[in-house]
Amino acid sequence: MAIDRIVIVGGGTAGWMAAAALSRLKKNRELSITLVESEAIGTVGVGEATIPPFVDFNQLLEIDEREMLAASQGSFKLGIQFANWGALGDSYIHPFGNYGYELGNMSFHHVWHFMQQAGDNRPIQVFNAETMAAYFGKFARTQEMQREDLPPINYAYHLDAGRYAVFLRRYAEGRGVVRKEGRIEDVKLDGESGDVTGVTIDDGTQLDGDFFVDCSGFRGLLIEQALQTGYEEWTHWLPCNRAVALPCNRDDGSPPPPFTKATAHSAGWQWQVPLQHRNGNGHVYCDAYMSADEATDILVANLAGKPTADPNHLRFVTGRRKKFWNRNVVALGLAAGFMEPLESTSIHLINTGLTKLIAVLSLDGPTDAQRDTFNRLTRKEYEKIRDFLILHYHATRRDDSEFWNYCRNMSVPDSLTEKMALFRETGQIFREEDELFTETSWAAVMMGQGISMQGHNAMAETLDKAATKAELDEIEKSIRFLVQHMPAHGDFLAKYCPAP
Ligand code: FAD
Repeated sequence: MAIDRIVIVGGGTAGWMAAAALSRLKKNRELSITLVESEAIGTVGVGEATIPPFVDFNQLLEIDEREMLAASQGSFKLGIQFANWGALGDSYIHPFGNYGYELGNMSFHHVWHFMQQAGDNRPIQVFNAETMAAYFGKFARTQEMQREDLPPINYAYHLDAGRYAVFLRRYAEGRGVVRKEGRIEDVKLDGESGDVTGVTIDDGTQLDGDFFVDCSGFRGLLIEQALQTGYEEWTHWLPCNRAVALPCNRDDGSPPPPFTKATAHSAGWQWQVPLQHRNGNGHVYCDAYMSADEATDILVANLAGKPTADPNHLRFVTGRRKKFWNRNVVALGLAAGFMEPLESTSIHLINTGLTKLIAVLSLDGPTDAQRDTFNRLTRKEYEKIRDFLILHYHATRRDDSEFWNYCRNMSVPDSLTEKMALFRETGQIFREEDELFTETSWAAVMMGQGISMQGHNAMAETLDKAATKAELDEIEKSIRFLVQHMPAHGDFLAKYCPAP
């Protein structure tokens, strides 16, 4: 059956991202898109750190970056600083962008390791512009100042989730999406096909549709409550199941650093997401090892300023829906599944979910081929990200709490065990099946968490040491020059995208 009416259930980040992206299908076609949301229920109210493909999402929608960042009081993000993960007192940055560049057809970390063994003791971080800029609190969109000897700086954003949703709402409504306020009380299914045919709102309005996008958050109103799709749980690998969120001001008036901070505690970790007007903070933890009061006390004791709201306590179950697209319903955002925000991947999964949906969905009518492809690709994407997150918990020497003892000793997916062993032995990382995280990402986290390379690509041994040293000197010099000439992140924001 052709799709003439799309109903989006939910107006959080997922709902409004879906509305904004799908509104583009309305061009040259009679297609009604309605979004239902309930102010009384509200949104999850967190989810403020993104990764670089999100910049492309906004570009695809032809959103003006300056306008969007000003409206959402956003800042730039060059990576994530992980503290206390491999061991108490450790710290490293997982940067966006690569270390150095390919030399002799090898990823840079092989060359770096070869030179380390030859006595060059420079840390790999000095060969990554994003890391160096982050350490010095600098930022520039390098289109404006890029030297040709370096690849462009990779960046993402920190955004105020509430303000970003308002911004997207304006965008989507401006393109013909109709918003309906109210609480959905009933979901109607077709007796024969089992498809969803409509929803009933608490004011009695009946909203019928041909295709539904479930963005109703953890409750999964259509995908789970109505269609009973089922959920695959991953808490044995990612045991955290609660979070407490608490924004704060920056007491000392300091500028926002251009990176997210993820600081491990005794039964989880704390995020700090710096925006222009405040920091977003939260403590993700496992309730088998820590109480809500203890988690809140630890969070409050580690804030950079005074709280600006009451603590918001959240529960979650890590895992994914057994099908992301079931019958005529596609689930996005928290309705589709949940992995903790350690690598800021949730909003990214909304983005890629929409990109895939738009690529495979035929408005002449969905078919099994479209559904199965979407489900298979999305499952793989979730599993690859899952393995990367498990790495952070498992590759640790921490033995100061029961929680870390569990994580260190737990069995992990075979795919991850193999990946860690191969890296340790040869430094090799194979990026399989279009996975999100690059070789630099895997190498940064493995090395940052204490997995040392014992060997490297055998071809590195064929490099000329003096010539390679000269190349490394050049890369380091270029990066230092670039970072030295970048403005401070706070100054850049004040000029580029101040609050309206
Ligand atoms: P929600 O925000 O919960 O929205 C659900 C919507 O459905 C609301 O509008 C609600 O009103 C509506 N609704 C529900 N039931 C009904 C009903 N019966 N009738 C009508 N309307 C209804 N992601 C990142 O990428 N980066 C991060 O840093 C990050 N941090 C996070 C930290 C935590 C602790 C958590 C829990 C999540 C985090 N996420 C992060 C994930 C991110 O918050 C979500 O992916 C994103 O906000 C999308 O949420 P959503 O729109 O799916 O759900």
